[in-house]
Amino acid sequence: MDTAEIRRRFLDHFEKFGHTVVPSASLILDDPNLLFVNAGMVPFKPYFLGQETPPFKRATSVQKCVRTQDIEEVGKTTRHGTFFQMNGNFSFGDYFKEGAIELAWTLVTGAVADGGLGFDPDKVWVTVLPSDTEARDAWKRIAGLPDERIQDRGLEDNYWNMGVPGPGGPCSEIYIDRGPQYGPDGGPVVDEDRFLEIWNLVFMQEELSTVRSKADFDVLGPLPAKNIDTGMGLERVAYLLQGKQNMYEIDQVFPVIERASALSGRRYGADPADDVRFRVIGDHVRSGLMLIGDGVTPGNEGRGYVLRRLLRRAVRSMRLLGYDDPALPQLLPVSRDEMSRSYPELASDFARIAQVAYAEEETFRQTLAKGTQIFDLAADSAKAEGATVLTGDKAFQLHDTYGFPIDLTLEMAYEQGLSVDEQGFRALMQEQRARAKADAKSKKGQHADTTIYREALDTYGPTHWLAYETLSTESS
Ligand code: ATP
Ligand code: MG
Ligand code: MG
Ligand code: MG
Repeated sequence: MDTAEIRRRFLDHFEKFGHTVVPSASLILDDPNLLFVNAGMVPFKPYFLGQETPPFKRATSVQKCVRTQDIEEVGKTTRHGTFFQMNGNFSFGDYFKEGAIELAWTLVTGAVADGGLGFDPDKVWVTVLPSDTEARDAWKRIAGLPDERIQDRGLEDNYWNMGVPGPGGPCSEIYIDRGPQYGPDGGPVVDEDRFLEIWNLVFMQEELSTVRSKADFDVLGPLPAKNIDTGMGLERVAYLLQGKQNMYEIDQVFPVIERASALSGRRYGADPADDVRFRVIGDHVRSGLMLIGDGVTPGNEGRGYVLRRLLRRAVRSMRLLGYDDPALPQLLPVSRDEMSRSYPELASDFARIAQVAYAEEETFRQTLAKGTQIFDLAADSAKAEGATVLTGDKAFQLHDTYGFPIDLTLEMAYEQGLSVDEQGFRALMQEQRARAKADAKSKKGQHADTTIYREALDTYGPTHWLAYETLSTESS
């Protein structure tokens, strides 16, 4: 079942049950607390917060999402994309727990011939908040799930709030058992790779007066009108229904990997380290396409910085696969061809999108050219001195002044028979981060604090590198 078909089935199912189909909002909304839309409920926030009256009691959407906090997972887990699409259904003071559970259950396990997704009911597991006996009872009654496949999960995972006074409530997550070849028995609380989370149901039932963290808050009392917010990962369902091993192998992403394979002459599936690179390329090229499509341009902070790092990581990964020519002109059109079926504006706006992306690659190529010269000089002088290690100082200078990513420094050093003082490099990065944080703090209130995104991206290099070495054990 291709991704577009799953999307259609989701929307049809909820439309049939009285939901208004709402088109995806842009990835960029005017919200100072949010770099990108990261969940289907974001465009509906004013309704959930009671700031506006919704024009419908029930709505459904497939929302474009970007989660930069998942960047380090890309290609290493089976299920995290920087860009993905979240299918959602929403009730504003209309149906509640039972309705949400029944609507989810009938779609997940409904026969394919009847418009359902056709999952085997025996492979479905769910989690609930331990105190939420209503949800547990509903799963038993409506779905007939045995107690052992309804697992308790604490506030950290199964409570939702917005981090501010306002609505909150327990969640119930739906998982599919991929089979014993993917991990141990014991359900999602034991193994989230074998048991894949596909859907999260949020039951907004109470009003919170103080929220100190996700799991630490004070409840004021029940909400007068209870709401439902759900999010189902379209790519995750697609990879299961397409019989694939991960979300990068689905119809909307894999053609980019195939192209990268043809260009580099390396085969996907032949080498675990290369496979991570392939999946990063498939993911990041698509994310870059979608972000530029929604108006982001590369830059040194905030959204632009995220886009820059995504595009550069894609290009860098191509180089690590041995492909040194401009890569985006080869890859971006492939992603467009897949994604424009759901988002036709990507095709009509492609000239602009391509120009932005290709210019960024060109800038990066110049950075690499300059950094490479500095690197070669440093490597030569280290060797002339009889050293076997490139100093952390040098690695930091390459990173900081020439935008030279650490894993590239590591790879090139390795090729020259040198190692790199990574510890020294990390210490210098840490110092710089502390300075940036202090700086952001003193400027707080002027603009969104994006340092956490920056941190995730800055640390990405070393993490990525380690992954190459630990991958074979991780994925076995
Ligand atoms: P996980 O625990 O796997 O990181 P999550 O609990 O963070 O997922 P939610 O915030 O509950 O995810 O989002 C709702 C749904 O969106 C998830 O059940 C999943 O199907 C999907 N989803 C979340 N993050 C991603 C991602 N990075 N890539 C693809 N799908 C995602
Ligand atoms: Mg997550
Ligand atoms: Mg989860
Ligand atoms: Mg979840």
